[in-house]
Amino acid sequence: MEKIQEQFFDIGANLTHPSFEKDTTDVLSNAKEVGVKRMSITGSDIDESIKAAELSKNNPNFMVSTTGIHPHNAKEYSPSSFTEIIDLLKFDEVKCLGETGLDFYRNFSTPEQQQVSFEAHIEAAIDNKVPLFLHERQAHEKFVEVITPYIKELPESVVHCFTGDKDALLKYIDMGFFIGITGWVCDERRGKHLESLIPLIPLEKLMIETDAPYLLPRDMGIDNSSRNEPKYLPHIARRIAELRSESPELVFSAIYMNSLNFFNIL
Ligand SMILES: [Zn+2]
Repeated sequence: MEKIQEQFFDIGANLTHPSFEKDTTDVLSNAKEVGVKRMSITGSDIDESIKAAELSKNNPNFMVSTTGIHPHNAKEYSPSSFTEIIDLLKFDEVKCLGETGLDFYRNFSTPEQQQVSFEAHIEAAIDNKVPLFLHERQAHEKFVEVITPYIKELPESVVHCFTGDKDALLKYIDMGFFIGITGWVCDERRGKHLESLIPLIPLEKLMIETDAPYLLPRDMGIDNSSRNEPKYLPHIARRIAELRSESPELVFSAIYMNSLNFFNIL
């Protein structure tokens, strides 16, 4: 009997990154070959969100994109610049607002600037009824404080690239967020603590992403200076199924369906 090909959805690929400029076509065909059927291109400032929208428009039925201002770039937020971000939602392929949130690990923008931009994204997501693509690093408490007043009205949202601790995970699950897991879980040094957390995520709230070109899964034996690519997503998916002690078929199909629903792809 012919094996049904596994299907994967990379919910976070930064394909507008300069490292993909020369060979995007190859990157995409290599990803398709291993079953990556869909991907969402992450927008992290105005220029990138425009590029992500163009790329996804050129690859209908394969790509969608997000539009937003990453916490690192929050200093670029202004009400007028933000209208350009919102305008991109008029395109069918632009499905999600973000990434947005708080990142106190690097503080490339001040915490105050980050909060202003974050709140604007939250309010716009509610007004436009689109999901949020959320980023939180070393800012869990403030993040919860900022978003809690909106939680009842908030459309479905994902905390992408979750790398926090057990309490943070349980809080996000309790708040109804989807959880995005990257190849961080394949990192025997930094990702160790995630191993015991993966089974705690309800299957209907789990999604996966490469965050390419960042976060190359470290256990693949590839030179660590290499860029990460969507074609490595199945590797992350298999690791997650293993950690959950569930059948890969069950885990992969649930994750894929979660992602289609999240991005409102019919
Ligand atoms: Zn992020």
